[in-house]
Amino acid sequence: MSKLALYGGTPVLKAKDEKLFHWPIVNDAMRQAQLDVLETGNMSGTDISRKFEEEFAKWNGVKYALTHNTGTNSLLSAMYGVGLGPGDELICPSITYWASCTAALSLGAAVVFCDICEKDLQIDPESFEAHITPRTKAVMVVHYMAHPADMDKIMAIARKHNIKVIEDVSHAQGGHYKGKLLGTFGDAAGMSLMSGKSFAIGEGGMMLTNDEEVYRRAVRFGHYDRIPVAFAKEEFAATNIVPFGGQKFRMHQISSAIGLEQLKKYDAEIAEIDKAMKYFWNGISDIEGLRMIYPEDQGSDKSGWYASRFGYDPEAFSGVTNHVFAKALNAEVGGEFSAGCNFALHHSEVFYSTDIYGHGKATASLNLPAGTDLRALTGELPVADRINSRLLGEPWFKHCDTAKIDCYIEAVRKVAENHQELLAEAQEDSNIGNIALTHRRK
Ligand SMILES: *Cc1c(COP(=O)(O)O)cnc(C)c1O
Repeated sequence: MSKLALYGGTPVLKAKDEKLFHWPIVNDAMRQAQLDVLETGNMSGTDISRKFEEEFAKWNGVKYALTHNTGTNSLLSAMYGVGLGPGDELICPSITYWASCTAALSLGAAVVFCDICEKDLQIDPESFEAHITPRTKAVMVVHYMAHPADMDKIMAIARKHNIKVIEDVSHAQGGHYKGKLLGTFGDAAGMSLMSGKSFAIGEGGMMLTNDEEVYRRAVRFGHYDRIPVAFAKEEFAATNIVPFGGQKFRMHQISSAIGLEQLKKYDAEIAEIDKAMKYFWNGISDIEGLRMIYPEDQGSDKSGWYASRFGYDPEAFSGVTNHVFAKALNAEVGGEFSAGCNFALHHSEVFYSTDIYGHGKATASLNLPAGTDLRALTGELPVADRINSRLLGEPWFKHCDTAKIDCYIEAVRKVAENHQELLAEAQEDSNIGNIALTHRRK
């Protein structure tokens, strides 16, 4: 007689409480703010977005915030802003969402991937340094899965080699490294504010910088209507306000109106999430083979806990893969656990051989010295290659309802204790990455 629900045993949870996970939390002020934009017909203006930028910059303590229609484009603006261009290389960790780095190709730059640390899933400073060449212009530091990257080491390496630092804060809005907000360390930051993320306002992105030149370049690239504000007339007389990127990155004002309301309650909401996630972790921390991934430094945290993962050691569970373990967990509680993380980008041909624009040769190496082998520059990335089989995604509790969280704790304990039953299951290939990770669809 099986104990596990996967094989007909009694599940821990009869019915899932969707409200425990629902996000974002919508209040009347958010509802009203949306209606106001719609009814005044002010969807395409920038007055509300500029107010949102002002408040967002104040919250982060930076000089400039620039709203974008997507996080992807806020990162492209940041790349153009710091001057990434033809023949440059951008170093990026292989384990992240594609939008962290792919747009570099459209600027004529190449991406060189480096490894992450298994301990915290963040860019490995040593691997970053080992991938620097005379052409390295910038590094993309992703604060991956709500965890801060090791900014002290990264900034020291970057400054030593005169490399620009861009932070991708899509997973960690409001998070801290040693007491300082993420997104405020480098030369520029970009982040997604789309619905699936922790700071969720619909489709949207934000670029941050303290550098006026970075800001002005970003405006020049994809914000045509801001050009007369950021530039003197004689500076754009020859080109008029035609945006250099040929892009329009303006945020929809329903998003910025929601964002203004979200800002007012975000800190309180992520404090509640933090309490809930730590309660969950206290309940399972003694299980051998599972490892909480949390920063050790004073003043560092995982604010928001977006897509948070914990370490899973298949050897401690007789070789049961993380995919099968997650399947068994989900059978107990009706979903919310997952296996793996983003697929390793350094295996995608887009960064080596794909001819995107029809030049008749590979786009990635178009502007590099003849004979440059990008694959060899990236080389072996052992952690990126194995990490997808060594992680489990935990439920993202939005409320600290301890009685309900206890069921999830019980489910983990039950599957861990009875994992021998899972040896009969076909152990799926776990190294493929969780493709749908950041764009979960209902
Ligand atoms: C979601 C995400 C992005 C892209 O943001 P969009 O708003 O979806 O364009 C960029 N980087 C990371 C790490 C992300 O998870």
